[in-house]
Amino acid sequence: MVGAGEGGLDNELARVSVVDYSGKVILDTFVKPRKPVTDYRTAVSGVHPEDLEDAPDFKTVQNQVKLSIKGKFVVGHSLYFDFKSLKIYCPKELKRDTALYPVIRAMWNGSSPSLKNLAFLVFGIQIQDGIHDSVEDAMASMIVYRHYENQWEEYVLLQGSKAIFEEHIFCYYCGHSGHMKYDCEAWKKNQLRLLAKQESSSENQEYYVQ
Ligand SMILES: [Zn+2]
Repeated sequence: MVGAGEGGLDNELARVSVVDYSGKVILDTFVKPRKPVTDYRTAVSGVHPEDLEDAPDFKTVQNQVKLSIKGKFVVGHSLYFDFKSLKIYCPKELKRDTALYPVIRAMWNGSSPSLKNLAFLVFGIQIQDGIHDSVEDAMASMIVYRHYENQWEEYVLLQGSKAIFEEHIFCYYCGHSGHMKYDCEAWKKNQLRLLAKQESSSENQEYYVQ
């Protein structure tokens, strides 16, 4: 994701990666942003302006993703974000979300761990060392899924529709459900206020938008 809009606070899809069950990369592409990019977030996203210059457009990538996952289970971490930013509908029964699997959540007192913490604490794999790499993230998620695969699928079989986990979308900033922090108007307003305050009060201090 790169940032668009005022203060770079709107998330804009910039890269998509899909790996198969064995971890082989079947799709890895940059995406031409639909809105002007105001913050490439390079230190975190790893995306440089030149990466996106000749990138295929959103519609093309969206179709490539649709084709690559057609009729398949989709494994990922917080798939809600991925499908939302791709504007693709995926039936709940086909999703295997490592942020929502109860056995994993139980280890974090019922909440979702970050993929970085999950990969490290459970498997000792160090990922996202500063810069995000979407191929690495996809692979880490697949490794986590495969570790739990037998018991996970057994659980789905036994529980039927109850095992299909709903994504409880919840905003940690304002406390309302139905949206998350990055889509929160109140949060954005506050971030812009902080940015404006920062600009007027200090000159060379580095500032990180959390
Ligand atoms: Zn909110």
